[in-house]
Amino acid sequence: MTDLFENKVLCKNCNRVMNRGYTIKDGCKLRFLQCPKCNNRIYHPLDLREYEEFCRIRNKEWEVKLRLVGNSFCVSIPKEIIEFEEQFQREINNIIRMTLEEPTKLSLFLSKRKINKQSKRG
Ligand SMILES: [Zn+2]
Repeated sequence: MTDLFENKVLCKNCNRVMNRGYTIKDGCKLRFLQCPKCNNRIYHPLDLREYEEFCRIRNKEWEVKLRLVGNSFCVSIPKEIIEFEEQFQREINNIIRMTLEEPTKLSLFLSKRKINKQSKRG
C-alpha cells in the first residue's frame, strides 16, 4: 500500500500542491503536508496515532521490584513500554543503554535512533 504522503496533495483552501515536512514533538517525529500559501497543515495519521499513544503512557508511573540475580540487579520493564517502542520490539537480544543522570535517577534508552531533545515548534 502506498503512503498517502507519497502523492501530490492539493490544499483544500487554495488548490496548491502541499509540501512535505516534519517536526519533532516531545521526541516523536510528526510528518506533515503544508500549503505554501495558507500554511494549512495536515499531519500524517500514523504519526499522530503514535504520538497520542505516547502521550497516554508518557507520565505514567510504574512500581517494579529490584531483584538480585547473580552479581546484578534486575528490574522488569512493563510490557506496555516495550510494545510502544515498535522498533525495539522487533529485535531480539536488544541492548539497552543506561546512564545514571542524577544520584537517584537512572535513564534507560530503548533504541539507538537519535532524536533531538529539543522539540522544534513549527
Ligand atoms: Zn492553502
